Amino acid sequence: MSTQTFNADHLISDRVKHIEASGIRAIWEMAQKCTDPIDLSIGQPDFLVPEAIKSAAIDAITNNCNGYSKTHGIEPLVERIASYCADAFGWDCSEGGSESLMVTSGTAGALTLACLAILNPGDEIIIPDPYFLIYPTLATIAGATAVPCLTYPSFKMTVESIKKLITPNTKAVILNSPSNPTGVVYTTEEVNALVECCESHGILLITDEIYDEFVFTPATFASPATHSRNVLLIRGFGKTYGCTGWRLGFAAGPKAIISEMMKLQQQTYVCAPTPFQHGVLQSFDTDLSSLVNQFTTRRDMVVDYLSPVTELATPEGAFYAFPKVPDHLGISATEFVHRCIENDLLVIQGSIFSSKDTHIRLSFATPDDKLEQGLTKLANLMQ
Ligand code: PMP
Repeated sequence: MSTQTFNADHLISDRVKHIEASGIRAIWEMAQKCTDPIDLSIGQPDFLVPEAIKSAAIDAITNNCNGYSKTHGIEPLVERIASYCADAFGWDCSEGGSESLMVTSGTAGALTLACLAILNPGDEIIIPDPYFLIYPTLATIAGATAVPCLTYPSFKMTVESIKKLITPNTKAVILNSPSNPTGVVYTTEEVNALVECCESHGILLITDEIYDEFVFTPATFASPATHSRNVLLIRGFGKTYGCTGWRLGFAAGPKAIISEMMKLQQQTYVCAPTPFQHGVLQSFDTDLSSLVNQFTTRRDMVVDYLSPVTELATPEGAFYAFPKVPDHLGISATEFVHRCIENDLLVIQGSIFSSKDTHIRLSFATPDDKLEQGLTKLANLMQ
C-alpha cells in the first residue's frame, strides 16, 4: 500500500490547466455586491419557449420517449433538417448523398465534436477576434492552436486578413455570422469570398450560425452553405426558441467529417436529449417575425443611446452590441466594467472575447424597460 497522500490537484491535466475559467462567471461573482443590478451581461433569450414546442417535449416525456435516440437524432427531426438543407442549400443528406447531418447536444456540442474530429496537436484553426469565448478553448482541448484574426473596427474577417494567417498547419476557419459578441452580419459577397478562399486552400470553413434567425432589416442573412458543399454548418435551437437549457443543435456538411463526429458523439454524449428533440421538431413551423421586430427595436435603442457617445459598429444581428470604451476616459474595458458594476450595471469587458481590452459587450436580450435604464447609465458613464 502506497503511503503517498491523495492530492487531487496533482491529477489535473495540463490541457485543463491551460483553460481559463469563464470571465463571465467572474462578473457574476462581482455582481453579487450589487443590490438590484441591471443585467446586460447575459446572452440568453428573455422570451418564453413557444407553447407548441413546450407541449411536444412534455408529450414526448409523457409518452415515454425518454430513452436514447439514434446517435444522429430521432428520425423525424433528422428528416426535417435534411429537407431544410435540401431546400436551402441543395444538399443531399440522405443515405447515399455526399452530405450528412446529426443532431447535437447544443451548438457547443457540435463545435466540440467538429474540433475533435479535424484537429491534430500542432494544427491551427483561424478564429475571428473578437470571438465567441469557447473557440480558443476548443482548439486547446484538441491540442491545436487558435489563430486569432484581428477584425477591429469592422469586426469582419476578409480574404486578405485570412490569407496572411494561413500556414501549412491550418485546418479550418470559424465564421460566426451574426456574431457574438459584435452583432455584425456578413454579406453574401463577404461570405462567398471567404468560403472560396478556404476551399482553394483545402481548409474547412466551419460556420457557426446559431443566431441565423436574428437578423435586422435591411441586413439579410447569408450562409456559405448556399455557395459551397465544403462547409461545416452548425446551428442551434436554444437561442432561437428560448430553450438554451435543452442543449440542442445540429451539424451538417461533408459526410466524411460528419461520420467522424458521429463516432465521437456515440462514445461521448451518446445522443442529444431525446424528449427535447421531439420538442424542437415543432420549431420549424414557428413564426419569429414579431420577436425579430422586437429585437430590431431594441437594437435601435442601443444605437440611439450609444452612437452619440462612442464608436459602435451597428449590430445587424444576434442580440449583442460591442461599443468601444471612449478613449477620453483613459481606462481599459476591464476598469470601465468595474465602474459599471459600482453603478449596478452589468456588462462584460472585451478582453473576455479578444486579445484587446478596449470594448465592452452588452446583450439586448433584456426587457425594454431594463434595457433603457441600462443604456441611460451606460451613456452617462461613457460621457
Ligand atoms: N456559438 C455562439 C456564437 C454562441 O454565442 C453560443 C452561445 N452563447 C454557442 C455557440 C453555444 O450555444 P449552445 O447553447 O447551443 O451550445
